[in-house]
Amino acid sequence: MASSLPAVLAAATATLAPLERDANRAWWAASTQVTDEHEAARIAADLAFRTALADAERFTAVRDSAPTGEPLVDRQRAVLHDLMLPHQVPDELREQIVRLEASIDATFNSHRPVLAGTPVDDNTISETLRTATDSTERRDAWEAAKTVGVAVADRVRDLAHARNEAARALGYRDHFALSLATAELDEAELMATLDAIDAATRAPFATWKHGDDVARAARFGCPPAELRPWHYDDPFFQGAPQDHELDVDAWFTDRDLPALTAATYAGIGIDIGELLARSDLEPRAGKSQHAFCIDVDRDEDIRVLCNNVPGDYWTETMLHEFGHAVYDRFVDPELPWLVRTMHPLTTEGVAMLFGRLTGDPQWLRTVAGLDDAVVTAAEPRLARRQLLTRLVFARWVLVMTNFERAFYADPDADHDTGWWDLVERFQLLTRPDDRHAPDWAAKIHVALAPVYYQNYLLGELVASQLEATVRARFGGVIDTPEIGEFLRREVFAPGWSCRWDELVAQATGAPLSVAPYAAELADLARRSER
Ligand SMILES: [Zn+2]
Repeated sequence: MASSLPAVLAAATATLAPLERDANRAWWAASTQVTDEHEAARIAADLAFRTALADAERFTAVRDSAPTGEPLVDRQRAVLHDLMLPHQVPDELREQIVRLEASIDATFNSHRPVLAGTPVDDNTISETLRTATDSTERRDAWEAAKTVGVAVADRVRDLAHARNEAARALGYRDHFALSLATAELDEAELMATLDAIDAATRAPFATWKHGDDVARAARFGCPPAELRPWHYDDPFFQGAPQDHELDVDAWFTDRDLPALTAATYAGIGIDIGELLARSDLEPRAGKSQHAFCIDVDRDEDIRVLCNNVPGDYWTETMLHEFGHAVYDRFVDPELPWLVRTMHPLTTEGVAMLFGRLTGDPQWLRTVAGLDDAVVTAAEPRLARRQLLTRLVFARWVLVMTNFERAFYADPDADHDTGWWDLVERFQLLTRPDDRHAPDWAAKIHVALAPVYYQNYLLGELVASQLEATVRARFGGVIDTPEIGEFLRREVFAPGWSCRWDELVAQATGAPLSVAPYAAELADLARRSER
């Protein structure tokens, strides 16, 4: 006899909650103290959690259960279904996918680009692309950075075939379609949103890029038509170039970053003392060099990992990660475990809303306490920097998401050409002459974080729409306790008890749209011209 839906949900929660907590603890241990033992424990805990998600009998019970008409119960069913569905893969195929992922990951970890006969690391490549003025030297560094693509491309295609086979067995067109469907994203709507972002960013990006190319070509002593991808500051042109006239790092050299972060959140009535106390924020040997926030138990155990070095980058990162942390902290603790979390897109939006403050003149004056005249003088450059960061990133995500869609539609197509078609169309770069190489495969996300990039860009839209709402209601985004109250009540508390798009519509009064993001770009453009 089939169990009732509430019983199925209760049993799933009883199994999954402790496994997820253990996997999170193991992840934290492996990130804060990198040892072989911690790494082995992390892999084992992760596997145990995934195995539970793959439980075919439980999945069938969830899939075949009838809706109860009780919204919170039916919502848990939907969340559990989407969580388990991608794991319903025949054992043999799953093993093939895991093996390919591990082998590609190992190649990315061990591969060293070779420059002038010597293996070098990614930092050397970055340094060359930031500083070298000789085009041949830059080209060599750029080409060396792409050699990992050749090393993994065949396996990435095999992986795409395996992922597609798994998706088709579940009734989906391909892995791209399955990934969106289980992430509450409608493919047609997503593509329409990306088209709208393309339309909103195309002209300002082209105008800036044209001027930048003229200056760039002068720097390298060539006509703009001879600029190639290695003349830009990073191998994928995914970030805005540094503005050497604006030394924001100098503003944060002597700052206590945890104190600055705490003051920012205290200003909106949120005390992060307890969250800071659980966190690991200082750089140290044998620790992950990245930054993240982890909600260990969907309860009070929330931790942030950073590697703070005084300067703008880690100031922004602290504000960003503690945006995730306060969201986790204030999800209604009475909600059932399955929905006592949130969609990646909404938490990314909240984190970005706070991370952006380091470029906000009001925040710089009041919370950071910078001299009024200094901020006033820097305002146009600050706005320009924010504008370029958004534009360059948006154009890059348009390449990634459109590429992934085409890649899963036909992994064997000529993507060496297709990749450059997209790069030329969206990033306005000129492809290298006579190059036939799998440059798409050099981007690790294609293999190991598939169909995820769109979340970052949609997160930007969420941040812009939230910011517009908060500004309209409270006159700014800082130093008003009502802002914290609004976020806690309207955004954080509901957790994942409703879909992300419903949450955004309820909290901001309108469905997610490109309009606030586009309005912000126009405003930044105006302010950068003063
Ligand atoms: Zn984030």
